[in-house]
This record gives sequence, structure tokens and C-alpha cells, in this order.
Amino acid sequence: MSEKQEIFWLTPVPKHCQVCRSPIDKVFYDAHLKFPYNISAEVCSICFKKYCNALGIGIAQEYTKHSNGNFKQTAGGSGKY
Ligand SMILES: [Zn+2]
Repeated sequence: MSEKQEIFWLTPVPKHCQVCRSPIDKVFYDAHLKFPYNISAEVCSICFKKYCNALGIGIAQEYTKHSNGNFKQTAGGSGKY
């Protein structure tokens, strides 16, 4: 049996939202965006609400900056929260 594990974002964290270009600070979303984008992107919370607004595997995951400086998955996936 596999236990839920903490999941960290492994590739470099985007400095800016890929839609509106506002700076990524403490949280970002790896989200599949709806029309007109229809792509997966790393976006800010505003663009997430606007173009996705649903969490789940294959839809979107939330990553929040951890005290160790990396971003940890905090919602939407199979991680431990
Ligand atoms: Zn944005």
C-alpha cells in the first residue's frame, strides 16, 4: 500500500502567471484552462478562478510556498495535505 506523500513542485517555479503575467508569490495553480486557452499552465489565483475554478487530478492542483522555500502541493492532487 502506498501512503500519501508530500508532493513538491520539482521544476523551476514560474515567476509570473502565464496568463496575466502578475508575479507568483505564495501560491500558484497548475491548471488546465478552459476556453479560450484550452492548455495547461501555471497561473495565479485570479486566473485560476477565471479560467478553471476546479481542483482535481487532470484538472488543477494548488501549490503553496513551503517554509523550506519550495512549493508544496496543497490541493487537487494525490498528495498529503
Ligand atoms: Zn494570472
